[in-house]
Amino acid sequence: MVQRVALVTGAARGIGAATAQRLAADGLAVAVLDLDEAATKSTVEAIIAAGGRAVGIGADVADREQVENAVARVVAELGPPTVLVNNAGVLRDNLIFKMTDDDWDTVLSVHLRGAFLVTRAVQGHMVEAKWGRIVNLSSTSALGNRGQVNYAAAKAGMQGFTKTLAIELGRYGVTANAVAPGFIETAMTAATAARMGIDFETLKKGGAEQTAVKRIGQPEDVAHTISFLASEGAGFVSGQVIYVSGGPQLGVLF
Ligand code: NAD
Repeated sequence: MVQRVALVTGAARGIGAATAQRLAADGLAVAVLDLDEAATKSTVEAIIAAGGRAVGIGADVADREQVENAVARVVAELGPPTVLVNNAGVLRDNLIFKMTDDDWDTVLSVHLRGAFLVTRAVQGHMVEAKWGRIVNLSSTSALGNRGQVNYAAAKAGMQGFTKTLAIELGRYGVTANAVAPGFIETAMTAATAARMGIDFETLKKGGAEQTAVKRIGQPEDVAHTISFLASEGAGFVSGQVIYVSGGPQLGVLF
């Protein structure tokens, strides 16, 4: 069988990097996309060192032209992508009375416009192949989280976006699902601790206590769920939101 090609956005570090490495280990060729191509080097090198195939691509997911050029590069250098993970994300937390237009626009733009632009640019290749897997990053914050009206709206929006993609593209053999992580140890959550003036180790300890499994998540926990949703055998799972949060209760939200 021809090797499948995956595109993972925001894959220079964190959940995206772990997902790119996991999909490569699963046997896919992986396009590692992030804002700055140079920043993708460590993920690409890790994949190649493990015997996989990868290219690093610099693009802002919120910029249509950059997205279209990036997808054209994936097609030219690896082949048509039929697995897409919309993972790129940013935080601009603030209580509503302090939230600026820019805080709102940046978060909605990277998460929602970004996922829209990349998916629109990639879906034609999936339809042509009559097979595709789209996985979008939502969050436990989709259910509401103090200081995150922008992020919660974007992550709830990702769920509606996902369900609609599932309905529109299902007839072409394409599934679309969302994963909604809880507290995962990454640069994003470390930055949140710093902004809150809380020591990261203390935040992690408190977060772990609030989960059923008594630990916080690692990027590999999310990558494992994405690997399942992207797999050949997951073709009858579509339009779902899987919470990867260590238990049924919400605990510390991200
Ligand atoms: P991270 O900050 O470590 O990594 C995010 C990556 O996205 C970075 O490499 C960044 O450069 C890239 N990025 C940001 N804006 C971009 C843009 N416009 N175009 C291209 N790339 C861009 O974050 P993470 O913790 O790994 O989070 C990954 C995803 O998971 C995000 O969508 C985040 O909202 C979501 N998430 C994370 C957690 C958590 O606890 N860490 C929880 C729930 C959801």
